[in-house]
Amino acid sequence: MNRRRLHLTSILVAVSLFAATAVAQTKVTSPKEQLGFNFGDDYQLANYTQLVDYWKKLAGQSDRMKLVEIGKTAEGRTMVMAIITAPENHKKLDRYKEIARRLASAEGLTDDQARTLAAEGKAVIWIDGGLHATEVLGAQQLLELVYQMVSMNDPETLRILKDVILLATPVNPDGLELVSNWYMREQDPMKRSTNGLPRLYQKYVGHDNNRDFYMSNQPETEAINRVFFHDWFPQIVYNHHQTGPVESIWWARRCTADSSPRTNRARRCDPARHTRPGGTAGFAQ
Ligand SMILES: [Zn+2]
Repeated sequence: MNRRRLHLTSILVAVSLFAATAVAQTKVTSPKEQLGFNFGDDYQLANYTQLVDYWKKLAGQSDRMKLVEIGKTAEGRTMVMAIITAPENHKKLDRYKEIARRLASAEGLTDDQARTLAAEGKAVIWIDGGLHATEVLGAQQLLELVYQMVSMNDPETLRILKDVILLATPVNPDGLELVSNWYMREQDPMKRSTNGLPRLYQKYVGHDNNRDFYMSNQPETEAINRVFFHDWFPQIVYNHHQTGPVESIWWARRCTADSSPRTNRARRCDPARHTRPGGTAGFAQ
């Protein structure tokens, strides 16, 4: 687990409240239309190839989303990052990036100047998934989150889009491709398991890829740190993990499309069982 982890609910209620503005939004392709299943369906995992194909399509359909390349992985895959915010904010990304940088460094700023910049700027929030690739919900929840943010039109979503610049990043593409392909190789869903991976899910350091941030020794870490400390300076970094005892059941909550799932999950979301049957039950979001 990473101590920079922060609960999604805390992130989203931390941003200030403003009245929502109407945002024109055309129909975007749903996960089921693209892949044949919803993220969180039993015994289904999307891989990185599917993620990139889907996000390219969403970026073409939605004026809330841009897809950018941030580097290469150890196995040579292109790392992508989705930038999601209201369409009017997309027109001023360079300005918001500059504000985040100046506030992060604080060099040459008076308190009044800092307050003025903070009032003009947006909350830059990084949410990733899949750093530890066998913690499968991390990457799958990111896919679902991005779909919701580009497709939902409830007041809460529109308010978040207005106030927030979301940087959604699958941080271990090689691992996502490996683990999902390994899991889905079984035709019989009841036989699917992440056990027995034939190789490390980060080419050189495997599970220790989250211990690399202090030295930035791997290309994925270098790309992520470039976004953090040279490019975007996000005020909140949510590094998604998942853990539990052997034979746990992990399940992702699916939420109704017309609700406000991020703040009313207990009432409005239903659990969907995920991965494998076993002893205790838990969830990660
Ligand atoms: Zn982890």
